[in-house]
Amino acid sequence: MRNPSYDILFEPAKIGPLTAKNRFYQVPHCNGGGYRDPSAVAAMRGIKAEGGWGVIFTEQTEMHHTSEITPFIELRLWDDADIPALRRMSDAMKTKGALAGIQLAYSGINGPNLYTKEVPLAPSALPIRTFTNDPVQARAMDKTDIRNLRRWFVNAAKRSKMAGFDLICLYGAHGFGIFQHFLSRATNQRTDEYGGSLENRARFVNEVIADMRDAVGDTMGITLRVSLDEHIGKLGFSNAEVREFIEMNADLPDLWDLAQGTWEDCSGPSRFKQEAAQEVLVSGIRELTSKPVVGVGRFTSPDLMARLVRQGVLDFIGCARPSIADPFLPKKIEEGRIEDIRECIGCNICITGDMTMSISRCTQNPTFMEEWRKGWHPETMNTKGASSNVLIVGAGPAGLEAARALSLRGYDVALAEAGSELGGRVARERKLPGLSAWGRVVDYRTYQLSQRPNAETYFDSHLSAQEILEFGFENICIATGAHWRADGVSRQHVAPIPADPAMPVFTPDDIMAGKLPKGEVVLFDDDHYYMGGVIAELLAKAGCNVTLVTPSAYVSDWTLNTLEQGAIHRRLVENGVKIVLNTGIAALRAGEVETECTYTGLKSAIGCDAVVMVASRISDDALFQELSARQAEWADAGIKSVKVIGDASAPGPIAWATYAGHRYARDLDGPDIGDALPFRREVTQLA
Ligand code: ADP
Ligand code: SF4
Repeated sequence: MRNPSYDILFEPAKIGPLTAKNRFYQVPHCNGGGYRDPSAVAAMRGIKAEGGWGVIFTEQTEMHHTSEITPFIELRLWDDADIPALRRMSDAMKTKGALAGIQLAYSGINGPNLYTKEVPLAPSALPIRTFTNDPVQARAMDKTDIRNLRRWFVNAAKRSKMAGFDLICLYGAHGFGIFQHFLSRATNQRTDEYGGSLENRARFVNEVIADMRDAVGDTMGITLRVSLDEHIGKLGFSNAEVREFIEMNADLPDLWDLAQGTWEDCSGPSRFKQEAAQEVLVSGIRELTSKPVVGVGRFTSPDLMARLVRQGVLDFIGCARPSIADPFLPKKIEEGRIEDIRECIGCNICITGDMTMSISRCTQNPTFMEEWRKGWHPETMNTKGASSNVLIVGAGPAGLEAARALSLRGYDVALAEAGSELGGRVARERKLPGLSAWGRVVDYRTYQLSQRPNAETYFDSHLSAQEILEFGFENICIATGAHWRADGVSRQHVAPIPADPAMPVFTPDDIMAGKLPKGEVVLFDDDHYYMGGVIAELLAKAGCNVTLVTPSAYVSDWTLNTLEQGAIHRRLVENGVKIVLNTGIAALRAGEVETECTYTGLKSAIGCDAVVMVASRISDDALFQELSARQAEWADAGIKSVKVIGDASAPGPIAWATYAGHRYARDLDGPDIGDALPFRREVTQLA
């Protein structure tokens, strides 16, 4: 059973009038589903209840229609009509004795109201602050507005109670909630009793909490989420001022929920932020208050969690991403199954589901947000089908996840890998600057496979179609991956870039294999995710003079969705990488590349000794093609099915590969569903 040094994490603790059964606190987190997919979100939270969390929160919930953040899809509590969906969620959260929390947000200066078309209200009249720089300004709230907003909070609190919640979190962090906008001199420039001194700026939150306590405080706990340091310049709410605020208002909420400044800071990826990166900012705050404190920091190590509670830094261990990667984290610690924890890798793919308003995925946990849609459980598989064995070719993330999940499902699994280690692309990419935590994708699955008697791994096994036909496996899963193209084909060029062979060209695969260019290097990034920026950083550190050329207006454009674009740009500049934006490459010549402006086509040239192409990848599907061509021989060979998955089917991020592996394992021997949708969804009911 569990290690006694973790006992402290399982001690109950009070939050206002209620008691949490343990110290595992799932802080609010987005999921891209929100009000559009209420049952999917409810089921996802229900899985966390099963996994042993003591406190489980919703994502941010818009508490009034005068402040909303369309196009982002969170939850809504605009009137009674929203209560049933929220009740479904709180019911799911409470199944195993967890406290159910709702995070109420009035977005203020962060809410452009693109859907409701209401004029945004904020402490001061300033432009709306969003990722998308919407051309909208807020009106400064007058005294009537403030009175109204206090009443709306009370209404929302009463509705939260009707919806079955135990806790309310008032959102005043990440720049997203009105409490922060009042507290910060940057967004509160009022000259009345709500602006100026810290006492004045804290008036609004004091009033709201007093009102809410009167309304629901006898039965509900009220928590306040504030930023530990706003990081928005001199006027921002600094860590010193946060401490002063907490000291002055020590008993204000029933619990202090402390989060780093901006969301980018708070949810920094592992490339830029270590586990517990906020410890310095949070240390000592607990001594300023008699109320419990929760903090976050992508915690996956139970030793670290126990130390933080033991040392009195935190009372509760707040987790968003670690609870996504492994909803059963508390249970695994409780049962002494530390090796079974599926640790978050800090890639922030989950956040992209929110940023792209799609639905979230998790690289480590492919069942995330599929608990209801597909009936996938993170710890158990569906029962085994009619056939009994599977040969998986390729041990990248797709093949590894397929092998893990299939063996759990009861199939005899053979995993054949051409190379001498497991992991495919992840085995290579984990060695790139800042990406070592990504190796957890491989480590978790390697260990799980080592524990399964029905899974065998074969190294140095570069298989041919002939060999596979001779083996006699019933099901063949081809997960042979992909490689980077050297010809520049991607988005700017759909045909190879004209190239003089005198110009040496390298791909990310060359560089990961240790084959590096020297001297002046032009890196062409028409991929736009992390690889271009990471390779530029690696080459700069290896002594090359790197110029990164990209047709996009941003370096590593898509990483806006993983909240790291700014950090990547900064790191490249700090490493001396020259950045040329809005520019394509027209041709490679001896000694230079010809560039062209994305907008005007204006040509120019950059002299260089080598070019690195970060363009696109091409599937390594020759084995699949060969087997498909010999379909007539399958029956005699005892083969029932051959499928290609992951990058060998179509290259994508690592999360796409683990999802593909998991899906293959779930669907094997499944019924033919014909043209039916392969997932459940909820369709808006007509009025
Ligand atoms: P994915 O992301 O889809 O999992 P990867 O490129 O990460 O793809 O992994 C593919 C793996 O398949 C690599 O480790 C590679 O060595 C292996 N592989 C490729 N071709 C063969 C083959 N014919 N036989 C066995 N293994 C192969
Ligand atoms: Fe962690 Fe990545 Fe999963 Fe998000 S997607 S929870 S960052 S592993």
